[in-house]
Formats: sequence, C-alpha cells, structure tokens
Amino acid sequence: MAYSKTYVDLLERFSRRGCAICGLLLHDENRYIDSLLYEFANDAGIHKVFRRGRGFCNHHSWLLAHQYGYSLGVSILFEAALDAVLEILESENSPFQLSRLETVVSGWFGAKGDTRLAGKLEPEIPCPACVSLCKSEALYIETFAEYWSDTTFQSAYEQSQGLCLPHFRDVLRLMSAPKERAQLAKIQRAKWEALKGELELFQAKSVLNYVGEPFGAEVDSWRRVVASMTGGEHALLNLTRPR
Ligand SMILES: [Zn+2]
Ligand SMILES: [Zn+2]
Repeated sequence: MAYSKTYVDLLERFSRRGCAICGLLLHDENRYIDSLLYEFANDAGIHKVFRRGRGFCNHHSWLLAHQYGYSLGVSILFEAALDAVLEILESENSPFQLSRLETVVSGWFGAKGDTRLAGKLEPEIPCPACVSLCKSEALYIETFAEYWSDTTFQSAYEQSQGLCLPHFRDVLRLMSAPKERAQLAKIQRAKWEALKGELELFQAKSVLNYVGEPFGAEVDSWRRVVASMTGGEHALLNLTRPR
C-alpha cells in the first residue's frame, strides 16, 4: 500500500499529546497564517481577498495580528479591507449621496430601514483560512477512516491519547464496515474510561485536607477532558458543527 503524506502526518501525531486531527489542524493554521504574511502581503490577489472578505473571520484576523514582526503586512492587508468598506460607503448608491428627503423616503436609516447598505458591507466570501482548514480537516478524517485497518496505523492509534469527540464522530460516520466502527469504538472507549479514572483520582486528591500520594499524571486530566469532549483549544473554533 502506498502511504500518503496525510497518513504519515497522522501516524506521527499519534505519539504526541491530544487528538491527532486537532493537533494537525492547529499546525496547518499556523503555517497558513505565517506563509500568508511572509509571502503574500504584497500580492494583489490576496489584497482582493481581504477586500472581498472585509478581512478574515475574527479568530483568524487576530491570529494574523498577533504574529510577531508582521505589523506592516497586517496594516497593508487590512487597509485593503478598509478601502473596500470606504468605497461602498462612498458609492453612488450610498445614502450619503442622496438628498436629505431621498434619505428619509428611502429609509436607509429608519428603525426598520432598508438593509441594503448593511448587506453590501457583508463579506462577499467566507474566511479563506477557515475554508482551507475545513478542507484539511476533511482530508484527515477521510485518511483516518481509509487507513484504519492498516496494522501499523491502528497500533499507533492504540498508543495515542485518542481522538476528541467531534473527530471521533466524524470518523465513525465515514466508516462503512460495522467491524471497523466497533474496533474504533472499543479502543476509544478504553481511553475515555482511563480518563474517567484519572478525573476521579484528581477529584479525590483535590479535596481539602487530602492526605496521600501527591498529584501524578492526573494533574491535568481536567484540562484533557475539555479537549477530549470538545476538541483542542482553538482547533475547531471556526469549523461549523454539526455539519
Ligand atoms: Zn480533534
Ligand atoms: Zn477564519
């Protein structure tokens, strides 16, 4: 069997903490933002994307803004978004071009006024970072389901911390063979039962006046259960669920 790069990426991620798919998405997101600022801040095509999208979504815009050393790139890209907004406000159809009477009649600013201006100011395209990450996510989920029966893949997964619940559901949906779903569910269940044991130990040790063993690996189980039930921190922020 020829192994795809995605297969290798997943396999490598199984040895790290948390859900492999969430980890890969965070890695892809950083790479996307980094290369955008590094290579494309002066690219006319990207300027157009910023104009039409009025920037990126809130999460990815701030991720861009927080990249150290790229304030010039951020200023160029978001100026393009600002220009688009100003052009709409200054356009012929804008209420500012109408006479006072026309404005009142057309009702742009009425309590239940015309929503055309607001509509024009909406992004014309979805956030490209979100689109790119949704595509990557779909590829990881497909690859996971496709290679599940591969012995190396499955044993590496058994050693991992397991998938988060959203990605577990996604992979289950793609598996056509009942046997494969049962195998995955069995392994995943064992991981969650172990996590439950860690949570109980953490809770027992957290009570006031606890005397006994100090905290061990269970010390961050409260954090791991949040990631396990809802996905890695910020990994799924903009990916619409359920699909
Ligand atoms: Zn995940
Ligand atoms: Zn986004």
